[in-house]
Amino acid sequence: MTDLTAKNIWQTVLGDLQIQITRPTYETWLKDTIGLESKDNTLTVGTPNIFVAEMLQNRMYPLISETTQRIASTNIDLKFVVVGKNSTTKPSRQAKNIKKENKENVFTPLLPLNDRYTFSSFVVGESNELAYHAALAVSENPGVLYNPLFIYSEVGLGKTHLLHSIGTASNIKKASSLYLTSEEYTNQFISSIKNGKTSEFRDNLRKSDVILIDDIQFLIGKEQTQEAFFHMFNYLHLLNKQIVIASDRPVSELHQLEKRIQSRLKSGLIVDIKKPELETKAAILSSKLEATGFYINPSIISFLAEQKFKSIRDIEGALTRLTAYAKISKKELTLDKARDLSSEFTSQTKKIFSAEDILSLVAKHLKIDESEIESTNRAKSIALGRMITIHLLSEKTNLGPTDIGRKLGGRSHSTVIKILNNSIKKMQEDINYNKTISTLLSA
Ligand code: ADP
Ligand code: MG
Repeated sequence: MTDLTAKNIWQTVLGDLQIQITRPTYETWLKDTIGLESKDNTLTVGTPNIFVAEMLQNRMYPLISETTQRIASTNIDLKFVVVGKNSTTKPSRQAKNIKKENKENVFTPLLPLNDRYTFSSFVVGESNELAYHAALAVSENPGVLYNPLFIYSEVGLGKTHLLHSIGTASNIKKASSLYLTSEEYTNQFISSIKNGKTSEFRDNLRKSDVILIDDIQFLIGKEQTQEAFFHMFNYLHLLNKQIVIASDRPVSELHQLEKRIQSRLKSGLIVDIKKPELETKAAILSSKLEATGFYINPSIISFLAEQKFKSIRDIEGALTRLTAYAKISKKELTLDKARDLSSEFTSQTKKIFSAEDILSLVAKHLKIDESEIESTNRAKSIALGRMITIHLLSEKTNLGPTDIGRKLGGRSHSTVIKILNNSIKKMQEDINYNKTISTLLSA
């Protein structure tokens, strides 16, 4: 027999949940449930089958529990039981339809995984070991440990490689994965709206256990897409889908992404990949060379490993050029020739600026005092000099916003970012300012 209080509480909870989650989720998992008994601070809820009971218990519990507590204004445990065939609750037709729809899905958002990008071809060193181990753990236990996993690095340091590695490893373990760039995600989302097929779009994502989203920085400035992305993110997260996100910017600098998305990202694990140090560069070079089957004198490998490369992509570029030369010219590759051929990929010709160089450059150009730039003086010309300095420091040195703030009289990370944003905006609006920055950048 159904206890009236239980029935009423549950009805109210259902009403509230309907507002919080998407219609297909509601209709698939909640519509045919019923409040059975309320006793000893436990609300027993009947479900049409074990599948639904498990889903509610294992994956949707936090949301349902939180809603129930709020409505009952007290701590209430929830118990889900299967009420069996004779009950009034039958698996909904909707649920069956959704399953059918899945099979006939019109979307094929699977971008192919590159089979060269695997865990075994990823060279692990100090600069990337945290990201590597987190990615490996996620592929072994999707949705369990680090969810979401957020991988950040500058371009060309292995994020996409790791995302593909997770995808391939998960597929081998029969957990289906889906790899999308956030641009691709946006395009698909928009076309699903145009074609009235948003639920197919969502179902297609739902079919995967591991969702890999590359280049999230693309969402910056696209408010509507962000909003939709946030809801999709929550939806997938609720279903315990493993989400892995890669970005060219750290979360803290995705400042134009909605706060809600930022805090969601921060709730998982954030790992970064740094530029490879000498040993890792040498190991990468040897590993890539081995794959090509070419022999290059070890002294040349050592020389290359010592060079400053902006990315691993540039290391690959240099190596490709050297092997192409060896192949075409059939001449032995000398160290001098190697230096010459690889110079375009290394930053040896580029002057590396120190913070002091930049400060004196700006001070001289604007005819102000270096110490004033570092001070808290808010006079217009000084504030302008400071903004220019911050802009240049962020582009011409390896300093991040925190270091820049420290150099400039202990300003905070967020102040630096704010000033940097103002500078970027000003460059678009003020032609003279734009010229000053460009001139100083090319100094
Ligand atoms: P990102 O996505 O960070 O811009 P990619 O994953 O596209 O960088 O990496 C650029 C290139 O460098 C790819 O060809 C990739 O295979 C290679 N690469 C990056 N990191 C490693 C690594 N640790 N070991 C081997 N190859 C790597
Ligand atoms: Mg990439």
